[in-house]
Amino acid sequence: MLIIKDISHLKLYLKAYQEKGYSIGYVPTMGALHQGHGKLLKQSQNDNQKTVMSIFVNEKQFNKKEDFDKYPRNKGRDYDFCESHNVDVIFEPSSEEIYPDDKPILKNKYFQNILCDRFRPGHFDGVTTVLNEFFSIVHANKVYFGQKDYQQLKIVEKFIEEKFSNLKIISIPTERQEEGIAYSSRNENLSKKQLQEFIDFHNSVIQFTKSFDKKIQIKEANTLAKNFITNLVDQEFDYFEFRNANSLEIEGDISDARLFYAIYKGQTRLIDNIEL
Ligand code: AMP
Repeated sequence: MLIIKDISHLKLYLKAYQEKGYSIGYVPTMGALHQGHGKLLKQSQNDNQKTVMSIFVNEKQFNKKEDFDKYPRNKGRDYDFCESHNVDVIFEPSSEEIYPDDKPILKNKYFQNILCDRFRPGHFDGVTTVLNEFFSIVHANKVYFGQKDYQQLKIVEKFIEEKFSNLKIISIPTERQEEGIAYSSRNENLSKKQLQEFIDFHNSVIQFTKSFDKKIQIKEANTLAKNFITNLVDQEFDYFEFRNANSLEIEGDISDARLFYAIYKGQTRLIDNIEL
């Protein structure tokens, strides 16, 4: 397994394979790796002759410095994870190299003012900015994103269509723990009690999604969703609502919808979305 820390070395390494016409798969991550990342990796290894996994905690996508500081990091464990998952190359550049002083921030143009964009202003500008850099460096044939971060996936689909039309985006269903919650790096920040509360919350949400007629309109379902969430004592949340899975609008019936939530356990913000 190779750990490459600078752009020029990665380009040099990949050039030889690209000249031979190898297909390159790319899995962008922020580390604190888990089985969700593992699923993206496995699909890339299955589809491509070489896979690059990047590990880069992107400061530009955190709208609060404390959140960036608190983001779980564990290099030793990440390297072990990659070794046991047969990763070819880890790309782990420095912030200085990715963000030289004059690097402008790209403004995201898609799916604005809803869901995470509404509550984390600038977050998707940071995501778009870092991906613009990494996509230009890696020059992959395929890139892998999880449905766990659904709004991000939809935004990146549009961004790729506009700016990297030779790159194919592959969307991977959410990998879940036995208890039902999604694997997430942020779960590491939860105490045992918070984790159990989150599992109980998620399972009650699943019961809620099973409790009504699937032919009702998204608007009506959102009235039920609002009652459900406001009746839960002490549950702090940014959003808890159904939206159409393609347009992310509140329109049509709920057969094509997903339920999106962002909740807090202590200081930890947790997001998920549930296919009905
Ligand atoms: P992150 O390291 O959190 O930035 O995530 C890197 C990639 O892994 C993103 O495309 C995420 O959507 C994806 N991902 C994170 N958690 C999961 C999961 N539980 N199942 C599938 N994909 C995931």
